[in-house]
Amino acid sequence: MVAVPNIKLNNGIDMPQVGFGLWKVGNDVAADTVYNAIKAGYRLFDGACDYGNEVECGQGVARAIADGLVKREELFIVSKLWNTFHDGDRVEPIARKQLADWGLDYFDLYLIHFPVALEYVDPSVRYPPGWFYDGEGEIRTSKASIQETWTAFEGLVEKGLAKSIGVSNFQAQLLYDLLRYAKIRPATLQIEHHPYLVQQELVNLAKAEGIAVTAYSSFGSLSFEEFSMKQAKGLTPLLEQDTIKAVAEKNGKTPSQVLLRWATQRGLAVIPKTTRPAIMEANLDVTSFDLPQEDIDAISALDRNLRFNQPSNYFPTESLWIFG
Ligand code: NAD
Repeated sequence: MVAVPNIKLNNGIDMPQVGFGLWKVGNDVAADTVYNAIKAGYRLFDGACDYGNEVECGQGVARAIADGLVKREELFIVSKLWNTFHDGDRVEPIARKQLADWGLDYFDLYLIHFPVALEYVDPSVRYPPGWFYDGEGEIRTSKASIQETWTAFEGLVEKGLAKSIGVSNFQAQLLYDLLRYAKIRPATLQIEHHPYLVQQELVNLAKAEGIAVTAYSSFGSLSFEEFSMKQAKGLTPLLEQDTIKAVAEKNGKTPSQVLLRWATQRGLAVIPKTTRPAIMEANLDVTSFDLPQEDIDAISALDRNLRFNQPSNYFPTESLWIFG
């Protein structure tokens, strides 16, 4: 089985550098997928309320533990707070619900999914709530500040519900602001990161502040094909891009392994996802070889500051924002 190195977080806890993403893993296959991924050697699982599959993912974990494949303490389970639960008094109840869904006592890492606070939607009305207050097209914001949400996050650590806490989709300015008042510093920052969106300054800032960076959507537009985003029109997909293909051929690796190694060799964690067992193994084996620095640089030079995962790419501009 592939040995995956750990990244030491700023609280002394080890986080596996290669994990498994759970976005768009269907409810019908999630339990088996998590079970198979554990069997293949994955220990970190990156979940979220918004992925709508935490119950099934938890079932996969429970089966793997029951079968003796792994112990709970060997796993690193990540989940995320959805936008509609940013109000300080909503954080702990929803974290407890998510833990119950997973069948766990604690998360290894709990993240603020987006720096976007939306009006509360009760889980009995709709779960996961998604972006729209009415489930159709109306976006209602909440008044919760990041400070209010973060203070509640610190409470989760104090109560043992999360071992580490962090943020996702934050830019430098918000990180600086958070660091002003954080009693517990964010352990990780999870961001969209691929050769078309390198964000080197943000990565450098996180490193300087002792915040580990996790890259998501490492294969770029591939994750967003179903949304037919205008940004992807006419763009060469990264797995078919000439530089990536040449580096792969030269180093005897697949383009996907090159993309994941480009990130891990620069110190980031990655969380690819697949339901195919052979690909699971290939995606996990992305720290056992090194790319020459010139190849790393050539890949970084593909940067075009192209972001796929932002709200304005999903919603028509006429979407109604009501500032509550
Ligand atoms: P991904 O890299 O996991 O997958 C993108 C597509 O590539 C999928 O269709 C997958 O089947 C395919 N794929 C995977 N391995 C491949 C390979 N070796 N060769 C060819 N195709 C391959 O991208 P993602 O799902 O966007 O991101 C990974 C994880 O990051 C998610 O599952 C989720 O956990 C997390 N994520 C977080 C956020 C956030 O806002 N924090 C946003 C997006 C994703």
